[in-house]
Amino acid sequence: MIELVIATKNEKKLRELKRYLKSVKAHIISLKEISRAPEIREDKSTFKGNAVKKAVTISKFTKGVVLADDSGLCVDALSGEPGVKSARFAGRGKKDHDNNAKLLKLMKAVPAGKRTARFVCAIAVADSGKAVKIIEEHCSGRISDSVRGRHGFGYDPVFLIPKYKKTFGELGLKVKDKMSHRSKALKKARKFLKQYLNHFVI
Ligand code: IMP
Repeated sequence: MIELVIATKNEKKLRELKRYLKSVKAHIISLKEISRAPEIREDKSTFKGNAVKKAVTISKFTKGVVLADDSGLCVDALSGEPGVKSARFAGRGKKDHDNNAKLLKLMKAVPAGKRTARFVCAIAVADSGKAVKIIEEHCSGRISDSVRGRHGFGYDPVFLIPKYKKTFGELGLKVKDKMSHRSKALKKARKFLKQYLNHFVI
């Protein structure tokens, strides 16, 4: 069976991606199972750029097909920030609640109508050092004025879905899964991989 390498060492991310890709006929492994895989700096200015960099670099080190993702939050009133720096918005080593506190502070004076934002998820698939598919999806919402709810991770408790008047932190995974940037991108990736990996069946 063909190997599909998920370019992450993050167990939580791996579990989520495996859940979406379980109908793909491939043996899914992570970076942890690849010896001497290089450390990759996510230093590009776009989500697509980082996803492609990770997938292409790793695909030079392995026989299998590689899938990499990059995601984050873009806030209109902050000219798209935190963007590709979402994970380290409050500084390296800081936690999700530090990032949320910084965001809410910066947004304090921003009126309700201008608190628009979107989550973005880019996925790249690479094979033998070349990107063979690039996907980008988003999920629109607004920044709340306080931390609300305990579900999810990252910016979920400050990301308000206007239709429900609740944050992802309050809505939970079942609702989030139906509309999130990551689920939309992973569904497209799954469709692509099912076709692409057929080439490898003898
Ligand atoms: P990465 O894709 O693992 O580099 O994650 C980027 C960062 O973006 C995460 O650490 C979160 O802060 C944020 N982020 C990405 N997707 C989500 C999401 O679905 N909910 C909340 N925060 C997210």
